[in-house]
Amino acid sequence: MTVAVDLHIDSDELATCVSCGLCLPHCPTFRVTGEEALSPRGRIAAMRAVQLGDAPVDDSFVHFMETCVQCRGCEPACPSGVPYGRLIEATRSTLASQRRITPWWQRLGFRVLQRHRLLLAGSSVLALAQRAHLIPTRLGLSKLPIRRPRSLASTGGDVWLYTGCVMDAWQRDVHVATAQVLTAVDVTFALPGRGGGCCGALHVHAGLHHEAQSLAVSVMASMPGDKPILVNSAGCGAAMKEYGRLLGTAEAAAFSNRVLDIHEFVAERIDLLAPQRKVGPVIVQDPCHLRHVQRTHLAVRAVLGRVADVIELDDDGLCCGAGGAYSALEPVLAAQIRQRKVAAIARVGDHVVASANPGCSMHLAAVGVRARHPMSILAEAL
Ligand code: SF4
Ligand code: SF4
Repeated sequence: MTVAVDLHIDSDELATCVSCGLCLPHCPTFRVTGEEALSPRGRIAAMRAVQLGDAPVDDSFVHFMETCVQCRGCEPACPSGVPYGRLIEATRSTLASQRRITPWWQRLGFRVLQRHRLLLAGSSVLALAQRAHLIPTRLGLSKLPIRRPRSLASTGGDVWLYTGCVMDAWQRDVHVATAQVLTAVDVTFALPGRGGGCCGALHVHAGLHHEAQSLAVSVMASMPGDKPILVNSAGCGAAMKEYGRLLGTAEAAAFSNRVLDIHEFVAERIDLLAPQRKVGPVIVQDPCHLRHVQRTHLAVRAVLGRVADVIELDDDGLCCGAGGAYSALEPVLAAQIRQRKVAAIARVGDHVVASANPGCSMHLAAVGVRARHPMSILAEAL
């Protein structure tokens, strides 16, 4: 007899799926494999079977859950409003607590994200190792910078500018560009205090619920008060906008309400920008956590439209396969998913691709796509 395992999923939320299948075309893992078990409907059915005791938590179940990119492209496509993000996060948290996913070496890697100096030093070593061809290309890591610009300095206190962990180590030039744009719209910024590094987004994905909660508390303490908090990484912004749910407190909900994606903020002040020139045509690639989770992807067009001719892709915002650490942990599927995105880009021309998430831009750059952050494109035109 199969013993029921409590996945800590809300049964009512699980029951909202009516198995209509409308989400299937929006699921990247279903699109590349054609397997029902690797679709949202298939995964929800597997969760339900485990939760009701009709199926065990076996290797197949773990595989179905581990291969989900957590792009949440299935959420806006669902007419029943199934909160898929909550279902998969609860399931992965249960699997991680049973040590069925996220082995020790991954947990160790996630811990490094919380030690910024170690992360900076480790990133420099990784960059040198890349130059010496010691990093397998199958990991799909784009070229990391050996040198990075000096750390930003606060310019005042109109807003907080969140700089994060990996973003600051690998793409600090985007922070420099963001600072230029804020200065151009006459806004001063302060930088987070102690503990304001890693937001915990990758920990949520990995099912490390308690670690993510503790990071959220620390990030909240690093940016007190009521000023807006601007974020230029779509994945981090999405995670911080969900701190209210993660911590379940009124204080966390209030903090989440202060978080804005940088494009939302700049789009409201777009008339203050006085670009010196137009850059060429720019293709927009929507990071899933901007389009499907924050649902603020149109602001990127408002901002870029000021300095470039914006070209849309024709793939309905299908995921690129980066998915936080997914491209490193599921390299085969991630590469197959990316192939679809690269083909979509090729269909509209050979232009610079704007992506507002470091994971997506690096995943695409690893195969030669000229991906840049919209803030970098904007700063160049100012
Ligand atoms: S989150 Fe993305 S990969 Fe996972 S089931 Fe939904 S659409 Fe598919
Ligand atoms: S998740 Fe939504 S769209 Fe997908 S099968 Fe269930 S009810 Fe239909």
